[in-house]
Amino acid sequence: MSGSRKKHLQVYFERGSQFHGHLSPGLAIGIFMVDLAQDILGPRELVDTVVETKLCLPDAAQIMTPCTYGNGWMTVKDWGKFALTLYDKEKLDGVRVYLDMEKAKNYPHLYQWYLRLDQVKTEEVLSEIMEAERAIFSWEKVRVKLPPKEKGLVSICPSCGEAHPASDGELCPRCGGKDDYYQVITL
Ligand SMILES: [Zn+2]
Repeated sequence: MSGSRKKHLQVYFERGSQFHGHLSPGLAIGIFMVDLAQDILGPRELVDTVVETKLCLPDAAQIMTPCTYGNGWMTVKDWGKFALTLYDKEKLDGVRVYLDMEKAKNYPHLYQWYLRLDQVKTEEVLSEIMEAERAIFSWEKVRVKLPPKEKGLVSICPSCGEAHPASDGELCPRCGGKDDYYQVITL
């Protein structure tokens, strides 16, 4: 990494490894990505984030910006795309940075790892990421159009008695058979 950027980002690599559990290639790419987006956007009063994958990238944004999944300043799109947008919350203009596969081709281990073409060693991928820094990204200026965050009505599910958004209908998603992830174990 170049001297000053390395120093500036080192704290995030350390914090990120702790928060994420380890320094994954995705987290490392994410740290460079957020840093680039912040540089292009410049200082703004309030900045919100959209990440386009649930993997790794949300953690980079969470350690480098005040936006977290839980505070609602970060929108997580489950598109499986390695891209993010930082935008001005008031003016809605922003910058979208994405992993450019044409540029990533210059880093064969990274390219193979990302496209799952071959088994590659994580260390080799990481060392290419550290060498590449921003050279694997492209970016564009964007205007963000997200639906306003509304706090809707809350209903009590007649089946389980738990509260849930009324927009789901009378029954909660689980009792209504829309979604499920657990079975209660009777002791
Ligand atoms: Zn229910």
